[in-house]
Amino acid sequence: KLYNQVQDLKGSIRVYCRVRPFLSGQSSYLSTVDHIEEGNITVNTLSKYGKGQKSFTFNKVFGPSATQAEVFSDMQPLIRSVLDGYNVCLFAYGQTGSGKTYTMAGPKDLTEKNQGVNYRALGDLFILAEQRKDSFRYEVSVQMIEIYNEQVRDLLITDGNIRNRSQTGLNVPDACLMPVLSTADIIDLMNLGQRNRAVGATALNDRSSRSHSCLTVHVQGRDLTSGTILRGCMHLVDLAGSERVNKSEVTGDRLKEAQHINKSLSALGDVIASLSQKNPHVPYRNSKLTQLLQDSLGGQAKSLMFVHISPEPDAIGETISTLKFAERVA
Ligand code: ADP
Ligand code: MG
Repeated sequence: KLYNQVQDLKGSIRVYCRVRPFLSGQSSYLSTVDHIEEGNITVNTLSKYGKGQKSFTFNKVFGPSATQAEVFSDMQPLIRSVLDGYNVCLFAYGQTGSGKTYTMAGPKDLTEKNQGVNYRALGDLFILAEQRKDSFRYEVSVQMIEIYNEQVRDLLITDGNIRNRSQTGLNVPDACLMPVLSTADIIDLMNLGQRNRAVGATALNDRSSRSHSCLTVHVQGRDLTSGTILRGCMHLVDLAGSERVNKSEVTGDRLKEAQHINKSLSALGDVIASLSQKNPHVPYRNSKLTQLLQDSLGGQAKSLMFVHISPEPDAIGETISTLKFAERVA
């Protein structure tokens, strides 16, 4: 049955939606989400024509009470397929504050229970590799990069590992590729990446919401009987905030950032939409992100787009544009 699940996912793009709960102190607000029914979500809208409703359909919708464990449980077949030699991309999309980093990494006060997808995926990878140890020998290594204004920055660089550069993987020939033996190693590397990411950011200028971050996990497995080598990788991408900025309000660097983000998110949308429509021409070249992920988007690769929405009424404009983006790629 699991085998069939994996086969079904081959070359596929799935789109999930997650609604953030209200944060503490917001209990009196009324959610824009009217109701959720399996893969359907209906939101309340308000326009010059009055009150209305709009419904959208996805592979799955997670409501505000969904736990991190529930969200992750749907991804387990994907993890298995990385060990089988497939490439997987997982994207978190949504406006700033909608819960992308919560889904991928977890909250700031990280506990085992609220760990995000990144930790769970890697934990599962090691468990599955261990279960298969009589037939396969796996090696796991990771890269972590950030894309800001269409420029790539290596987040795992330290004085000590300058020489440890990757020859494979992402099309970033000189991004560090760090071997990992356990989940503890990964947590150390993620912390290093987070620290490097914070460099250059100030309280007023938190770049993290305006850059894409990508954790790539490479898996190489040797079949102990035949000697065959399988290679798979998983890209875990926390995208830049999708909110549209008002051109009349921002200028200079902020406007340039916004234009880069806008361009790269629409390029990603275009790539995924043309893949899901089985369009022969896929426009990978239009952004750094899609160029880097070219080998892992389309073909035999599997993608999961996780769109996030905020429940506040004043976010309705962004909520609708997020849901429309998601519907287009679904
Ligand atoms: P983003 O990365 O999209 O900007 P964050 O992940 O930082 O958003 O989320 C914004 C705030 O909401 C954070 O304080 C985060 O911990 C909280 N939050 C987001 N999603 C959830 C959730 N599902 N449950 C509880 N708190 C959440
Ligand atoms: Mg974030």
